[in-house]
Amino acid sequence: MTNTPTPTAESLRDKILHHVTYSMGKDAKHASIYDWRMALSLALRDRVVEPWFAATRKTWDQGRKRVYYLSMEFLSGRMLEDAAINLGLRATCRSAIEGLGLDWYEVIENEPDAALGNGGLGRLAACYMESMASLGCPGYGYGIRYEHGLFKQRFEGGQQVETPEDWLKQRHPWEFERPESAYEIGFKGYVETVDGKPHWVPGETVLAEAYDMPVIGWQGKWANTLRLWSAKPTEMFDLARFNHGDYAAAAEPEALARTLSRVLYPDDTTYAGKELRLKQEYFLTAAALQDILRRHLAADLSLEALPKHVAIQMNDTHPAIAGPELIRLLSDVHGMEFEHAIETAVQCLGYTNHTLLPEALEHWATYLMGTVLPRHMQIIEKIDSWHRRNHPNRPHFVGIVKHQEVRMGELAFITSHKVNGVSALHTELIKKNLFPELNKLHPGRIINQTNGITPRRWLRMANPALSHLIIDTIGEGWEGDLDRLRELEPHIEDSAFLDKFMAAKRTNKEHLAAWIAQSEGITLNPDAIFDIQVKRLHEYKRQLMNILQTISEWHEMRENPQADYQPRVKIFGGKAAPGYYAAKQIIRLIKDVAEVINNDPLIGDRLKIVYPANYNVSMAERLIPAADLSEQISTAGKEASGTGNMKFALNGALTIGTLDGANVEIREQVGAENFFLFGLTADEVMERRRDPEHARHAILESPVLQDVLQMIAEGRFSPDEPERYHDLVHNMWNSDYFLVASDFESYRSSQKEVDVAFGDRASWAKMAALNTARMGFFSSDRAIAGYMRDIWDTTSAL
Ligand SMILES: *Cc1c(COP(=O)(O)O)cnc(C)c1O
Repeated sequence: MTNTPTPTAESLRDKILHHVTYSMGKDAKHASIYDWRMALSLALRDRVVEPWFAATRKTWDQGRKRVYYLSMEFLSGRMLEDAAINLGLRATCRSAIEGLGLDWYEVIENEPDAALGNGGLGRLAACYMESMASLGCPGYGYGIRYEHGLFKQRFEGGQQVETPEDWLKQRHPWEFERPESAYEIGFKGYVETVDGKPHWVPGETVLAEAYDMPVIGWQGKWANTLRLWSAKPTEMFDLARFNHGDYAAAAEPEALARTLSRVLYPDDTTYAGKELRLKQEYFLTAAALQDILRRHLAADLSLEALPKHVAIQMNDTHPAIAGPELIRLLSDVHGMEFEHAIETAVQCLGYTNHTLLPEALEHWATYLMGTVLPRHMQIIEKIDSWHRRNHPNRPHFVGIVKHQEVRMGELAFITSHKVNGVSALHTELIKKNLFPELNKLHPGRIINQTNGITPRRWLRMANPALSHLIIDTIGEGWEGDLDRLRELEPHIEDSAFLDKFMAAKRTNKEHLAAWIAQSEGITLNPDAIFDIQVKRLHEYKRQLMNILQTISEWHEMRENPQADYQPRVKIFGGKAAPGYYAAKQIIRLIKDVAEVINNDPLIGDRLKIVYPANYNVSMAERLIPAADLSEQISTAGKEASGTGNMKFALNGALTIGTLDGANVEIREQVGAENFFLFGLTADEVMERRRDPEHARHAILESPVLQDVLQMIAEGRFSPDEPERYHDLVHNMWNSDYFLVASDFESYRSSQKEVDVAFGDRASWAKMAALNTARMGFFSSDRAIAGYMRDIWDTTSAL
């Protein structure tokens, strides 16, 4: 596709020098690491632009259907090395940088993470963008260009402290500002009737201005656009007020507008119900839909033909106002008959459900919706009655508007032709528990698309040691066809291969240990089991169960110091939402326990706990390749899919996990004998909760757990404040909604099996290698191919 010759390290070095001089305006003698990183990024970006334009041309020349992925979050992480890998230029870049006398890692690590997301949902959107580009699926991602991404986490006295994140303080070398692509977005106001037709007159408006980033696919064959919207005032400031000397008030419209794209809401799987959040959701959606329709109409296509040319995917209900907004644009603005507008919208839209947690299901008070989006509130009522009319047997309790609230899940369901869950188990639970009635009215609408991860970032880039072994063993090409990892299977009978597999793991563990020694001042034994739980802090993910089991291990070592123990390193990482008290207490407990155990002379290096601050994509790339054991221990029925679980298993970690989310399918793929299963099933969890005393009963049956809770209650880990964890312990005895106590013994004995299994290094190596070899199914390429076939009805343009 591109005629530009592949650069050599020398020609690339010249390009870098050119950019240092002419783009950064620096004499090479005085350039900083930042300048060099920018110059390298710009040199690489130059090579992305051509395939990017070519892809756009081909899309329009061939009249291709376009897929629009709407998401409030894109957790992209760093972009430079990823682009280098996909262009096949990592080695060339590295020699060019080293030829300039610079350290490659120092340059790469100078880039701040783009942290425009909370966790799994945002990271999924980033993996899906990369896979769409790799598969040649013409598409655009639409999101918000938050000035401040997810907060940064620090620890002070073992407690989480949040500080603002400032990724845009520096220039962002991958984005192109598009001042010519700006749309007016309205809020509030009233609805009037003009020529017998409803017409919305907004009371406030802001501008949505586009910033485009190219997303380059594997081998640089295709590139799509991630378009992020930034809010700008429709008028910069109030000149009248300024001329009257009221300088602060003169800047008010600007300040007001900019709050819209100022910050990402830091709540993962909880819904805040705030007016600003609703405005952000509409801001993204309305800007995207105006852009989609403008592009469609500019190509001289009719709105009748919209579903043939346009597929719009809603990443959770956050952009679910897309249904009413598209219907409004088609009928109020473009004059399409109302019911026909609904049907057209339904054919274009798809909705991905990400959670069954009740606290995560968005519902907006009708008065708030009616105030912020008065016309949309009317349209929502009309969609609801249209649906009721078309389904006379719809039960009275089913509907979009209920108890003066707009239920966004129902709205998204009714305005989409396909609704998908993100793992086989999750999809069954959506059918059974979340939308049972709507499922009956619309058989076949709910389908499954199990999540996936991009193997380019999560294996090829993050784990060079293992990647090189795979390339030496089965050649290249598996990065774009991950099922080919199966070709590793015959080699697991070869002890030389297994030695190399474990040597790669050992290298990664040493690198991680060196980083932890430097950043945390804790020395780790690379022969220990590296046991890692990294993910957002949430009660359902049960980091608490992990730390309780760690305490029990420590206690046992102290009681019986002569016994033979398999050394362990417990690594935790993850942020708690700033207002989530219970989660923050769990972080503090882990930190307090670490302080005691890490300084216990009786224990030495047999047990260490580390919790580095500020878990993000870059830290995940550092930790995951070094893991022996992956902790995926959520209460069954609560984790929709998980994607962290996939990253670990692909990198040769064994999973200790419950039958939850995609763990179920991971276990099927890698084989039950290569997976440490424990705990209640989703059905058993429901059953267990019917006993109001389940927590007390489970604790009374486990003397070990009783001892552990007793130690915490006595202040063993918080001697300066013995009552610090009274609430937590009280909750364990009296409520324990997430069944930590009920699963504790099962988890503990599974952990004992891990110790035994790790003792047999040859057998462990086989199990680990089989995990890698059998994880091909979890490539996001497989997931995106499924969306293209089952939801978007489109094909590759490659
Ligand atoms: C993959 C990833 C997640 C999701 O992890 P889960 O274990 O599936 O919750 C969250 N945060 C980051 C930074 C990730 O890379």
